[in-house]
Amino acid sequence: MVDEAKIIKQAEKIASNVQKSWYETLNPIERSLDYASNNPGFKKALLRFVDVLPALDSNKKIKQAFNEYFDEEDIKEGWGKHIKYAINTLPAWSVGYVLKKGVNMTAQRFMAGFNQSTLLNELHTLSNNGYAFSVDKVGEDVLSAKAADRYADEYTTLIKKLDSFDANQASISIKPTALCARFNPSAPTETINRIYPRLKKIIEAAQEKKLIIYFDMETDQTRNITLSLIKKLLQVTVPNYERLGIVIQSYHTECLSDADNIINWLRNNDKRLHVRLVKGAYWNEERAQAFRRNWPIPVYENKGKTDSMYEKLAHRLVNAYPYVKPAFGSHNIRSLACGTTLARQADIPDQDWEVQMLYGMGRPIQRAVKRCAIPLRLYVPYGKLLPGMGYLVRRLLENTANQSFLQNKIKQGNFNKPDPDSGSASKMTARGYKTIGPRNYSRPHTIEKQSEEYKKQVKETTTTVPVLINGQTIKGDEFDSHNPSYTSQIVGKISHCKKQHIQKALKKTPNQWGASETRADAIEAVGDALQNRRYELSALITRENGKNWTEADADVMEAIDFCYYYAQQARKIKDERNRDVPGEINRYQYRPYGPAAIIAPWNFPLAILTGMTTAALVAGNPVFIKPAMATSTIAWEFVRCLRPHVPDEVVHFLPGSGKQVGERLVKNPTINTVAFTGSRSVGNTIRGIVAQKDETVMTRTVLEMGGKNAIIVGPSADIDKATAGIIESAFGYQGQKCSACSRVIVHKNCADELQKRLRGAAKALSIKPADNPDCDIGPVINNSAKERLEKAKKKARSEGRVVYDGSVPKNIPDGHYVAPLIVKQLSPQSDTMQNELFGPILGITTAESIDQAIKIANNVDYALTGGLYSRMPSVINKVKQQFEVGNLYINRDITGAVVGRQPFGGFKQSGKGTKAGGPDYLKHFMLPKTITENITRKGYPGQE
Ligand code: NAD
Repeated sequence: MVDEAKIIKQAEKIASNVQKSWYETLNPIERSLDYASNNPGFKKALLRFVDVLPALDSNKKIKQAFNEYFDEEDIKEGWGKHIKYAINTLPAWSVGYVLKKGVNMTAQRFMAGFNQSTLLNELHTLSNNGYAFSVDKVGEDVLSAKAADRYADEYTTLIKKLDSFDANQASISIKPTALCARFNPSAPTETINRIYPRLKKIIEAAQEKKLIIYFDMETDQTRNITLSLIKKLLQVTVPNYERLGIVIQSYHTECLSDADNIINWLRNNDKRLHVRLVKGAYWNEERAQAFRRNWPIPVYENKGKTDSMYEKLAHRLVNAYPYVKPAFGSHNIRSLACGTTLARQADIPDQDWEVQMLYGMGRPIQRAVKRCAIPLRLYVPYGKLLPGMGYLVRRLLENTANQSFLQNKIKQGNFNKPDPDSGSASKMTARGYKTIGPRNYSRPHTIEKQSEEYKKQVKETTTTVPVLINGQTIKGDEFDSHNPSYTSQIVGKISHCKKQHIQKALKKTPNQWGASETRADAIEAVGDALQNRRYELSALITRENGKNWTEADADVMEAIDFCYYYAQQARKIKDERNRDVPGEINRYQYRPYGPAAIIAPWNFPLAILTGMTTAALVAGNPVFIKPAMATSTIAWEFVRCLRPHVPDEVVHFLPGSGKQVGERLVKNPTINTVAFTGSRSVGNTIRGIVAQKDETVMTRTVLEMGGKNAIIVGPSADIDKATAGIIESAFGYQGQKCSACSRVIVHKNCADELQKRLRGAAKALSIKPADNPDCDIGPVINNSAKERLEKAKKKARSEGRVVYDGSVPKNIPDGHYVAPLIVKQLSPQSDTMQNELFGPILGITTAESIDQAIKIANNVDYALTGGLYSRMPSVINKVKQQFEVGNLYINRDITGAVVGRQPFGGFKQSGKGTKAGGPDYLKHFMLPKTITENITRKGYPGQE
C-alpha cells in the first residue's frame, strides 16, 4: 500500500523548492499566458492568431489578423485590453516585428531548436545541467511517403549525432503516424507494414547506441495500432532490446485494461518495456470528436478521475517492475510525488524509473524536482517554427489550462489524494437531432465483424430481386448487377418491371395512408430494422456499389438517420396551427400530397433511396420506388426492411431502366410528386415531362441534381489541413459523390506548396478492391463510367498540366478501376472545370485574390457544395456571403453531410433548393390546408 502521508510529504518537499525567477515573473509572455488562462476570449483569439501567424507574409497582414481575431472577442480589461490597445495604435511595421518576435520567443521556450545543430547546442546545455532528455521532432502533418521518409531520416541522422551523450541521458520519442502517409485505423496490418521499414531503420540506429525509443501514444484512433506495433517489435524485430517505450494515458477510459494487457504480455513473454505514464494531451479534441460522431467519449470527463487513475496506474507500473520501467510524466506536484514515493518504496534503482516533464513547461517545478534529487527527463521538441506551430498551439492550450492550476496548488499547499468525482467537465450539448454516428473501425472487433459479414455474403448465392406490387412479388426478365471490384461476381438477378406492372401498381393505389403518429412509428421501426442489419447492409453496399467500409457504413448510417429524423419531424409538423379569433376558428393543417415516384441514383444506394422514400411515406403518401439499375439489390433489401411496417398497397418496388420505368412513372397522372436524385440531364428531362403533363393535380418535383464543387484555398490556409480535406473530398468514394470536390481554386501565393502536397498525398492513396480494409480508392460503378472517365482524363491532361497521374496496380483483380488524376493551370472555362465528371479527377486553377477566387467558383452552372480553407475572419465572412452554394464548408472537407446537422441540397442546376435531412423537407410531400369556420350565431361569437 502507498503511504499517503509519505506522498504528501514528498509533494511538500518539491513545492518548497519551487522558486519563480524574476524573469519568469515579469516576462510578458508568461503574463499573457497567465492572463489567457483566466480569460477564455483572449485565449481563443491568442491561439487562433498564433496558429495563423506563420502563414502571414507581411506586417500589414499580421496587424490585420491580430485585430480581426481580437476584435471578435470581448476583452474589456486587464492585460489583454492593454495589449489590444497597444497593437491597435502601433504602426503595422512595428506590430509585425513585435508580434513575430514574441511568438518566436514563445516557440523557443517550448522547442529546443529549429534544426539539429541548434537542438544539439541546447541538448548539451541540458546535459551539462544534469537533465536527461527525449527528443521529439515536430513538423508538418505527414501526408506523403516523402514526408514520412524525411521524418525517419531526420531521426536516423539525429541518432548518430547523439553519440556524445550518455545512453541513459539521451532518448528519442517517435510518433507512429508520422512514419507513413496513410495511417489507417481500419487496416492495422497494412498500416504497420507501411510504418515498419522506416521504423526498422530508426530502431537499428538506436539499438547501436542503446537509446531508449518511446512511441508516443497519440489519439484514441491510433492507440490499438501503436500497442500492436510495440508487440511486433518486441517479438520479431528486436526481441532482446530492452529500451523500447510506450505511453499510457490515464485519461483514457481503457487505460487500465491497456496497462494490464501489456503488463501480462510482458510477463508471459519475458520482455522489458519502458512505460511513460501521462494524463493525456488531446482531451478537448478527443471529447469533441467522439461527441460529434456519437461515440462513447474515450476519455474521462472529470479531471479527478484522470488524476486518481494516474495514481492507480502508477501503482500497477511500479508493481510490474522489472518488466516495466516506469516514467511519470506530469507537471502536477501531487502526481509526481505519488510516482516518486511508489518507486522509492519499491526500491527501484534510480536508473530504472524517472519523472518526465515537457521542455519549457513549469520550469520552476522542473528545477525543484532536480533539487529533490528525483531522476528527471525532459521531453524536448524541436523543429521549424512554421510546421511546429501546430504543436506549439496545443502546448499553449495546455499551458494556459494548467499554469494557474499549478500555481494555486502550490500556494494552497493542497496535495491531498485526488477525488475521482471532482473537476467535472462542462457537459457538451448540441441542439436538434442526434446522429446515430458512424462505426468506429479502429476497434478490432468492428473490423472483424465487418470482414466476416462480407465473406459470408460472397459465399452465399446471388440475391433474386423481384418486382413488388401490392405485396405481391413478380418475376420479370432479369438483368444482373455486378460487384464492381470483381466483375465476374454477380450480386443480384433483378426482374425488370414491365409496362403492365406499372399500370397495375398505379391502378389501385390509395391517395394516402395511416394516421400521422402511426406513420412516424412505422418509419422509426424501419430505422430500427436497418440498424439491426447494419453490418449486412454495409457489406452489400461494398459488394454491389464498390464503397469501402467507412463509406458503406456512412451510407447505412445516413439511411438510419433519415428514418429517425423524418419521424421526429413528422411529429413536429402533425399538430395543426391554431389562429382562432373570437367568432372564428382558423386552422392550418398538412395533408399528404398524393402518390410519389421515388427515382434514386446509384451513388448513395441506400441513404438517398431511404431518405426520399421515408419522407414521402411519413408524410402519408404511397410510394413507387424506382431504384438505380446498378444497385437494385441494395434497394430491395431496404424494401424488405420497410415492408413489415407499412401496408402492402402503399409500397411498390419497380426496378428497371430510367426510360422504361422512371419516365413512365413521371408521365402518369396518378403520380403527384416526383422525388428524384440524379444527374442534371435526367432532372431536366423530368422537369420537361412534368411541364407537359395533362393532369388535374399539378405534379410537384423535388429534384436533387449534380455539382461542380470547388474548394477555395486562401493564402492564410493551413496547407496540411487543406491538403487532407481536398484529398478526402475529391477522391473519397472515387469522386463519385454529388458533393465531391472537383475544382480547387488556390491563391497564387500558396499554389505551388499546395500542389506539391496534393501530389504526395494522392500518391499515397491505395487503389484496392473495396472490401480490402486498406482501400482508399475502389472501383467506379461500371465499365461505361470507367471508359467515360478515361476519356475525361485524356481531355483534362490536354487542357492543363499534370500534377499527379496515378496508375492502377497491375495485380489488382478484374474491376472497374480508375486512378486519380490532378491537373493544374486549367482555364476556369475549360471542360474539366465546367462539367461534372463524377470520378477521381481534380482540376486546379489559381487566383490573384479572394474576390477573383469567388468569381471563378461561382462561374459554373451548378451550386451544390463548396469549401474554403482560410484563417482570416474577413475572408471567411466574405466567402460566407458570396459563395453561391447550397452547402458551404469552412476549414474542413466538403462531403459527408450529417442528417439534421447539415441539411443537404443545392440550387441553380444542382436542384431546386430543397434540403434533404432538413426541417423543410417533409413539406414537399404535403399539402397545407387552411380551414376557417365562422362560429358566430345571431351575434353570439361562440364564446364568452
Ligand atoms: P441518373 O440521372 O443517370 O439516374 C438517376 C435515376 O434516374 C436512376 O434511377 C435512373 O434509372 C433514373 N432515370 C434515368 N433516366 C430517366 C428518365 N428519362 N426518366 C426518369 N428516370 C430516369 O444519375 P446517376 O448516375 O444514378 O447518379 C449520379 C448523378 O446524381 C450525379 O449527377 C450526381 O451529382 C447526382 N446526385 C445528386 C445528389 C444531390 O443530392 N444533389 C445526390 C446524389 C447524386
